[in-house]
Amino acid sequence: MLTTAPRGTKDIMPADVKAWRYLEETMRRICAQYGYKEIRTPVFEHTELFLRGIGETTDVVEKEMYTFNDRGNRSITLRPENTASAVRAYIEHKLYAEPAPAKLFYIGPMFRYDRPQAGRYRQFHQFGVEALGVQGPNIDAEIILLAVQILQSLGLKDLKLKINSVGCPKCRPLHREKLQEFFKPHFAELCKDCQSRYDRNPLRLLDCKNPHCQELGTGAPSLEECLCDECKDHFAGLKQLLTAAGIEYEVDHNLVRGLDYYTKTAFEIQYQPLGAQSAVCGGGRYDGLIEEVGGPATPGIGFAMGMERVLLALESQNLLPDSEEFMDVFAVCPKQEYFPAVFKAVIELRRAGLKAEFDFQGRSMKAQMKQANKVNARHVLIFGEDEFARGQVVLRNMSTSEQKEIAITDIITNLQTEV
Ligand code: AMP
Repeated sequence: MLTTAPRGTKDIMPADVKAWRYLEETMRRICAQYGYKEIRTPVFEHTELFLRGIGETTDVVEKEMYTFNDRGNRSITLRPENTASAVRAYIEHKLYAEPAPAKLFYIGPMFRYDRPQAGRYRQFHQFGVEALGVQGPNIDAEIILLAVQILQSLGLKDLKLKINSVGCPKCRPLHREKLQEFFKPHFAELCKDCQSRYDRNPLRLLDCKNPHCQELGTGAPSLEECLCDECKDHFAGLKQLLTAAGIEYEVDHNLVRGLDYYTKTAFEIQYQPLGAQSAVCGGGRYDGLIEEVGGPATPGIGFAMGMERVLLALESQNLLPDSEEFMDVFAVCPKQEYFPAVFKAVIELRRAGLKAEFDFQGRSMKAQMKQANKVNARHVLIFGEDEFARGQVVLRNMSTSEQKEIAITDIITNLQTEV
């Protein structure tokens, strides 16, 4: 146990970090193009924030949170997602007093006590975006485009964008009633979770993963039939903008976000080959959330993208960047009495901005040359006895095997012209 990471977590080893950085850099670059600014919130918050901000009837809150009392006996939760924290920070720092929208993005680890499997972990990473303060479908379309552009610029193909409208507190009660009427004759056949959802949150009956519940849900009254004019117009406006932007989408009426403060637009981007974990990105509008968390009534929309899932998708399409690392110089020191000179040369090379290393253990010349190959050194500096006596060293180009003698005082100038 001491030597394995906790279940559902994993080390991101040096060989994998390049792919993560590449992903993060792409996300940051495209967010900058769209005018979204990075926010970094604490990894833990008061539990109450998530009870309010995610909703007490959700699976995340009911089953998946890492909650504990700290030494001051406060209930603390490791963030299972970042929207609630971003909204809390928006309120705390009075961003609502600035011109809307506040356009924020985040990248970081989230924690859920989920059942670990490929693409599902207990510590995972999300990139997410929130736009707070504006109504209307224009910003919804921008946010969806941002998500699509990131995935497309990574080169990913075969993605599917699904959209839906989940209505608003004006039109949802009618749908709720219709749903309860529809499921009533089958109540006894529903899974335990769905039986409890029936009263508390019947919209989520459509979202159940249990095959029998899914079967029972076929032909259930669609929310679309119940949408009020405002929600219908909003949805039509969004579809029009997506079409104008040349973005393909599918309307999926089963796509739900089952809480009162989720309103109108809901969307998901799927990569089918990931199977059960096909959702790489999910988001929607949450016009009631900011008020729910204690701020002024303010509309908002956002999404979160699962970084591990994007990486899995990139890997499956062979789109990960080459992870090869290299050193500009490896200094070989066959005689320990020369080490101070080697050390000085390497320090100066580093100060000049080059990547340089040497051997720490006084190993044989052969072992040091092997190490130079292992670190993928482009050049090797050999502090050989004869040359050293003349104030010279041998500079070897590892790809051409060419060697020349240079003055120790000229190492930097020589290497700067070579690399
Ligand atoms: P959610 O916050 O549940 O809407 O999830 C947004 C995205 O985060 C999903 O579409 C997934 O890509 C990713 N995600 C959610 N839960 C996990 C998890 N346990 N492990 C890995 N990725 C996850």
